[in-house]
Amino acid sequence: MLKILLTISVIAAVYFFLIKKPQVAKKKRERAEAQKRKPELDEDIMVECEECGTFVSSKETIIVSGKYYCSKECAKVK
Ligand SMILES: [Zn+2]
Repeated sequence: MLKILLTISVIAAVYFFLIKKPQVAKKKRERAEAQKRKPELDEDIMVECEECGTFVSSKETIIVSGKYYCSKECAKVK
């Protein structure tokens, strides 16, 4: 009897996971896509300067070796 109950609960768990997981994954994917899409729609995102911590528009940032800087002074470029 215990074996039958165990089997049923295992099947139920598998069934539950098979039903539930794709929905969770779908929601996650939708959210990830929404986040991915956001910078495209709204290109004017704020990024933090690596040097002084000031938030600047992504259009005005200076990117030096993958890091964002608010100004040439912070980026130490001329
Ligand atoms: Zn700065």
